[in-house]
Amino acid sequence: MTDYTNTSLELPYFETTKFPKKEIKNEPDGSWYKVETMYGRITTEKPTACPHCNEAHSVEINQHLFATLKHLYLGNVLLCIHIEYLQYWCTQCSRTCIQEIPFKQKEHFITKAYYNQIVGLLGKSKASIAGIAASLKTSWKIVKNIDKKQLKEKYPDLKPTHYSPYIAVDEFSLHKGHRYATVVIDWQTGEILFLEEGNREEQLHHFFDHVGRDWMKHVKAISMDMNAQYNKAIKTRYPHIKIIYDGFHIIRNFNDRIITELRRLEQNRLKEQEDEIRQSIKKTRKVCTPLQVGSEKKKELLQQLHEDYQALNLIRNDYTKLKHSRFHLLSSREGLRKKDEVAREHNRELNEKYEKKGLSLPPGERKWSIFNEKKLDTVLTSNEHLNIAFFLGDQLKGALQTRNIEDLKSGMDQWLALSKKYEVKIPMLKSFNKMLTTRMDGILSRAVYPISNGPLEGVNHMIKTTRRAAYGYRDQEYFFLKIWDNSRIYIKSRRIA
Ligand SMILES: [Zn+2]
Repeated sequence: MTDYTNTSLELPYFETTKFPKKEIKNEPDGSWYKVETMYGRITTEKPTACPHCNEAHSVEINQHLFATLKHLYLGNVLLCIHIEYLQYWCTQCSRTCIQEIPFKQKEHFITKAYYNQIVGLLGKSKASIAGIAASLKTSWKIVKNIDKKQLKEKYPDLKPTHYSPYIAVDEFSLHKGHRYATVVIDWQTGEILFLEEGNREEQLHHFFDHVGRDWMKHVKAISMDMNAQYNKAIKTRYPHIKIIYDGFHIIRNFNDRIITELRRLEQNRLKEQEDEIRQSIKKTRKVCTPLQVGSEKKKELLQQLHEDYQALNLIRNDYTKLKHSRFHLLSSREGLRKKDEVAREHNRELNEKYEKKGLSLPPGERKWSIFNEKKLDTVLTSNEHLNIAFFLGDQLKGALQTRNIEDLKSGMDQWLALSKKYEVKIPMLKSFNKMLTTRMDGILSRAVYPISNGPLEGVNHMIKTTRRAAYGYRDQEYFFLKIWDNSRIYIKSRRIA
């Protein structure tokens, strides 16, 4: 091969020594591609001085080495370069060094041209690591390492590049609910500002240290979940920042602590009753069986059995209803009513399209339930405590809806007064009411700074899909860099209304 072709192939100081070898490589999915390997040696000059001890004219050839570098993937031909190069040895310091290979990419057995191909594809943000690796016939690891190195250069310290007056903090699960991480975002842009394993107060202290005092002084308000401990960190170090409790979180908190808990208790109670009746039935049958047919005692016991079975049926019925009521109890009445309306419309369409014409429904099509609100009512009427709790939840949603601070304040006061009345009947209301009272400041601030943790839902979703796109990201540092970068691809511009 001439020097001219070598230059156009971006292979300076490469001298071919043999004819190229052509092979067909079969992929597991049945597809194939060609591999063309060029053989040659490196012609760069011997170094004039030892790179280790700087002694002039001290290096000598120690041995010949060989390596194959991936060079280019064009069409469906993978071009590889098999190189012969030299290892030198210093007569002064006895250390070795290798011949300079101008077209080899440092740290990888690929050429600079191939490296640039990978970088080019990485620049197209939609491509996944696995996708790029497959399309260039290389390993996932090489692409990942290159991507990671580039991201590290792009974000050397993972620090915010501008002030953020409104921020939001939340926790998300790293591994299916076992380990948690804390994430802080710029509420307006959606950019991730901080990310650390753990979901305690100290994570927020680390965040403060990371961004520094000056940056924190520019923060006006922070939105967070009521459950977390983050508020303590803010209060002790930056009391000027308004803490905002997200309305969505307040409702979720109520649902978790009151509705779900009541449902669980009620289910347990029904289960215990069922067990009791089953025991009683067992006993009665034992006594009843040997008795003479038609005797008074037998008649009496049979009657008792009949009643027990009836009671058992009722309890089983209540239990099943309760078991399937989770969705209904956690929805709003309004939402369920709408759902029923949509379902009615859907069923009407199916009826007109198929049933009226005597056709059966196509596969995958079915009628939707129009009894969501009715199901809710059945559960509520059979359980007084759940009925109260559901009513309180609905009222709480209503009270939180306003953006007028006076209305919000009086609404919350009224709600608390009402809720306190039921503390005897529903004891878990006590701790919830207490929490609302101590955090009232942050609830009322919602009216002044209408920021919420809503944008974090999107961030959490992005984190999940990012993880899925790369088989779980076992490399934590890379995973963090990746989501840091992803949150900056499409910058949002939310405004404070
Ligand atoms: Zn030397």
